[in-house]
Amino acid sequence: MSFLNSVVAPALFPSILWRTNERSIHITFDDGPHPAATRTVLKILNSRGIRATFFLVGRNVQLYPEITREIILGGHSIGNHTQTHQVMFLKSAEVQRVEIQTANDVIGEFLDSKPRFFRPPYGYFDLRTLSIAKTEGQRVVMWNIDSRDFSTPRPVSIVRSVTKSVTPGSILLFHDNASTACSIGR
Ligand SMILES: [Zn+2]
Repeated sequence: MSFLNSVVAPALFPSILWRTNERSIHITFDDGPHPAATRTVLKILNSRGIRATFFLVGRNVQLYPEITREIILGGHSIGNHTQTHQVMFLKSAEVQRVEIQTANDVIGEFLDSKPRFFRPPYGYFDLRTLSIAKTEGQRVVMWNIDSRDFSTPRPVSIVRSVTKSVTPGSILLFHDNASTACSIGR
């Protein structure tokens, strides 16, 4: 667990959800939908009756509407992860607004309403990001445990480091994208 995401950042940005007070843990997947990675993740989650949250990139939703529907059919939650996965930090308010609103429109077509949660790509945001998300009525959700699944090809190392850090209320960060597709499910 990083000290930054577990202590420093929550104190500086209390409006953001870094972890919860619930007893459950929250598994989140960023960057999908992806044809291989997301389907593998869904198969594993659904077979174990686990519900997760997927932070989707709008343009990937447009490319893979069927997989988006499969996520929803599985009973999982969906959040906004921008339209084109741009870094939000220090971008103009207009660029940030378009990224967030376009993804809300694209994802919103699959839901009854726009997604309730927003997560900035790479976890980089500024005060404009927070203000736009607030205007959109969305809670910014980060994480307190980063699986670092993009940095190691060995699932066993990821499992070992995550299980060592996890506590009730933890929000875990994983990815269902091209770089993790080959290791998921092994
Ligand atoms: Zn991302």
